[in-house]
Amino acid sequence: MRVLRLTLALSLLAGPALIAQGRGGRGGGAEPPPPLNLPPDTPRITQLKDEAIREVDKLKDFSQQMVDQIFSYGELGFQEVETSRYLINVLKKHGFRVEEGVAGIPTAFMATWGNGKPVIALGSDIDGIPQSSQKPGVAYRDPLVDGAPGHGEGHNSGQAVNITAAIVLKSIMEREKIPGTIRIWPGVAEELVGTKAYFIRAGLFKDVDVALFTHVGRNLSVSWGDGSGTGLVSVQYNFKGESAHAAGGPWRGKSALDAVELMNIGWNFRREHLPLSHRSHYVIKDGGDQPNVVPPTASVWYYFRQVTYPGVKEIWAIADKIAQGAALMTDTTLLPTRVLGSAWPRHFNRAVAEVTWANIQRVGLPEWSEADQTFARAVQKELGVNETGLTTRLGQLGGPVNPETNTGGGSDDIGDISWNVPTITLSYPSNIPGLPGHNWADAMAMATPIAHKGVTAGAKVQAMTLVDLLLKPEVIQASWDYFRNIQTRTVKYEPLIRTQDQPAIELNREIMAKYREQMRKYYFDPTKYKSLLEQLGIQYPTVRK
Ligand SMILES: [Zn+2]
Repeated sequence: MRVLRLTLALSLLAGPALIAQGRGGRGGGAEPPPPLNLPPDTPRITQLKDEAIREVDKLKDFSQQMVDQIFSYGELGFQEVETSRYLINVLKKHGFRVEEGVAGIPTAFMATWGNGKPVIALGSDIDGIPQSSQKPGVAYRDPLVDGAPGHGEGHNSGQAVNITAAIVLKSIMEREKIPGTIRIWPGVAEELVGTKAYFIRAGLFKDVDVALFTHVGRNLSVSWGDGSGTGLVSVQYNFKGESAHAAGGPWRGKSALDAVELMNIGWNFRREHLPLSHRSHYVIKDGGDQPNVVPPTASVWYYFRQVTYPGVKEIWAIADKIAQGAALMTDTTLLPTRVLGSAWPRHFNRAVAEVTWANIQRVGLPEWSEADQTFARAVQKELGVNETGLTTRLGQLGGPVNPETNTGGGSDDIGDISWNVPTITLSYPSNIPGLPGHNWADAMAMATPIAHKGVTAGAKVQAMTLVDLLLKPEVIQASWDYFRNIQTRTVKYEPLIRTQDQPAIELNREIMAKYREQMRKYYFDPTKYKSLLEQLGIQYPTVRK
C-alpha cells in the first residue's frame, strides 16, 4: 500500500514524459532517447573551443594554487571567511564586480563580469567537513591538526574549475566582442544545505539564463532529468523543561533530555514504517550540562530526506508529531522548531547536459601518472576497498533516475536552483573511487596532482560549454523549452524554508574558533612554495611501507 501510494505520488510529480524516458544508472534497461536536435559546432565555435582548451592548460598553475589555497583553509559551512575573502580578491583582480554578503549570508557573494544576455551563473560549493583534517598526499590517517575540520569531501576544488573557465572566456569575449554576462557564486554551507534556497528567496537567479554547477567526483560526467539521491529538510527541535537536584529532588525536575531521547526512540520505531526511499539521521546538540542537574534544555538536530518534495514534507510532519508526543510524555515544552537547511531533490536540464556531454567527450579523462595511481591504490588498500586506482574510462551521459527504483542517498541544495532556472552539475575527476565520503580519507587526494588534473579537465569542459551557451542561442532556447514544458509542467517549486526561517549563519562558529589559530600555520603561501605538498614537505605519494 505504501509502495503504491509513493509510486502514484512520484508519477504525478515526474510526469509521464520523464518516466517514459527513464534510463541510465538506476533507470535500468530502457533505451536512451535520441538526442535533442541541437545545432552542431560551426568552424568558428570549434576554433574557439580549441583555444579555450589551450588557455585552460596555460592556467593550470593558477588553478592548482586555488585548489591548494582553499584546501589549506579547511573552513566549515557559514564560516568560510578566509575562503570567501580569497575568492573575492581573485575575482576582483580579474575584473569582476562583487556583491558581498548576499542573501544575508556573510560569506556568500555574487561576482559579475560582462554585459547583457545571456546570463550564465557558475557555482560550486566551498565548505569543509568536521574532523577531517588530513595531510594531502599521505595514504593513511595523518591529520594536519588533530580534531580540526578539513576538506573531507573536496569542496576546495570546484571554484577553481569555474574561475579558470570564466577567465579564459572573458578574454575570448573581449576580443571577439561576444555579448553576455558571467556570474560566479559560492555554495556556502552546502554540507548544511544551508544557503541555496535563500539565494532563490533573495532573487539572485531571477535574470539568470543557465546555471552551470560543478562538483568534485571520480569521473568527468553530467546527467539530466531527475537526479539520484534525495531532497531534505534539516530541523532542530528544542525542548524546555525544569532543572532540579538530580538526587535531592529529581521529582521536581522536568528533563528536556528525556524529551530528546523519547523523540529519538519514537522516530527509530517509526522508521520501520516509512517508505524505503527515506533517509534520516540526527545528532544531539544539547544534552544537558552535568549529571546532577536535571537538564532544563535539550535539543536534537535531524535531517529528513526523501526522493520527492511531497515525500520530504510528509516525513517532516510525522517527526513534528513525534516531537509533540515526547513533550507530552515529559511535561516539557517543545519550542518553535527551526529549519537549519533544506534542499529540493535535484533535476537537471537536458539541453545543457547534452552540450556538456559532447564537450566531456572532447576533453576526456586526465592522464594519471604512475605516482597518482600508486597513491590511489594505497588509499583504497588502507580503506579495505577494491584497489582499482583512478578512473580511466568515461561513463555515459546520465539520464533520469527512475523514481520507482530510486533508493535515496545524498542531497545538494543545488536542487533548489535547478527548479528555478535550467541547471546542470558537471562532475570532474579530482578524487579517488571507493571512499566513504564525509571522511578524512576523502581529503587525501584533494591537494595532490589528482585534484589538480581533475580541475583542469573540468575547467576545459566548463569553458567549452560557456562557448556553446554564448554563441548558440538555440541551446538556451531548448533549455527553457525543457524547463517550462517538461520539467516544471506539473511540478511547481515551493521552498521548504518557511517565512520565519533565516540562514543559520551562527553554525560552526565555535568549532572554527577552537581550531582556526592552529590551522593558520598551514595556510598555503604561494609566494614561497609552488604547492601545498612542497610547503608541507610531503613526498608524493607517501604510502605505508
Ligand atoms: Zn558536496
